[in-house]
Amino acid sequence: MEQKFIIKNKNNKYERICLLKQKDFKKSKEYNEILKQFKTGQVEIFCACRNKDIEYKYSVDGKLYPAMHNSKSLHNRNCPGYSNFKEICLSNPAFRYETEDSDIIIANLLETHRNTKMVLNSSYSSAKIYNSEESMTLSAFYKKVNWYSWYQMAYAPCQYYLKFEEFQSYVVSMFKKIKIRNKRCTLDDINKGKNDINYFYWEYKDAEYNELYDNYKVCGINRYYKAINDVVARERNFSVSAEVLFCANEKFRKTYNGLTVENAQKAGYRIIVAGILSTKPYFKALDICFLLVNKYGLFVESTYEAKFFEYIIDYIENNHSKNKHVFFRPWSFGMSLYTDNHLEDAIIDLVEEDSSIVVECFGMDTEEYNLRKEKKEQTCNYRMLSWNASKKDKFPDIPF
Ligand SMILES: [Zn+2]
Repeated sequence: MEQKFIIKNKNNKYERICLLKQKDFKKSKEYNEILKQFKTGQVEIFCACRNKDIEYKYSVDGKLYPAMHNSKSLHNRNCPGYSNFKEICLSNPAFRYETEDSDIIIANLLETHRNTKMVLNSSYSSAKIYNSEESMTLSAFYKKVNWYSWYQMAYAPCQYYLKFEEFQSYVVSMFKKIKIRNKRCTLDDINKGKNDINYFYWEYKDAEYNELYDNYKVCGINRYYKAINDVVARERNFSVSAEVLFCANEKFRKTYNGLTVENAQKAGYRIIVAGILSTKPYFKALDICFLLVNKYGLFVESTYEAKFFEYIIDYIENNHSKNKHVFFRPWSFGMSLYTDNHLEDAIIDLVEEDSSIVVECFGMDTEEYNLRKEKKEQTCNYRMLSWNASKKDKFPDIPF
């Protein structure tokens, strides 16, 4: 992630955007030019992350620094100038930026396909083997890829949300920015390279049992593209052992409170199948996971969340205020607004007010859950937009 700056020329109001903090920039002709213009008072420099003017100055030894002492909280959360940016970058050891200045994510994946047997034997209950902070399961990985992509899209200058089909390819385009630890290249490079491993993220259609080979043929849509007046889907398939498919189904069922992939589809939810497959000698998945996404393609952890977040996103979309009210799901603890170690279900950054709204979807009604809910409500220093889904409340009014 690189911080961009706006160079404003005082006389003719001409302005342009520039990356001033790049490593080799100081050796360039452009650097000397800008420094000269700055010293003679011809230009002013501002961070480009907001319309609000956060001014920067050059020191005598040519170092760029913010003109105002405590301007760090004024930047966009997405900007390296933001106060907690370093934490966002580096706080999650399993899914973090490569360095502070990089826009490459390093993901530390458990070698899940090797663990399939282990999971089967432990009957899904001993999640401990998976709970290592340093590494994550395949489903945790793709969930973060989805939320990270959404975050990038939410903060991108486009005025409207991408449609489901467009968001699908947007997520896959993020493969260019994600590296698996211990591998030097990105997922995109791995997929294009000569090795026989492929990372994939498709919309799930169905699976069919193949008696002859005792495995399943999984069919999915790996690409949507626009033909004249229409969106065309390209279908692909791969085979998967009964064991791997069973594990993925069980994991889904546990996450969604007993709902099976099949029933979720029947109820109209869209499902993603993602994983790793071996291309040689034929398309065979080593490990897969299922993700439930809402109608915009955003991964959700319950059907309540699917509905509630659609309600919020629809509202923002209808108000044409995507860039003013930035809705996203935090994917790393450094992004959290809570002071204890909870992560919000979602956050809405109010860009023009330098403030945020915490979004919570309360889906259970047990004593323990309600205690945690109360604590969240008491310790939250921000406005909270919450929905008591389990009590069948109406959706709350959105406060903007
Ligand atoms: Zn900024």
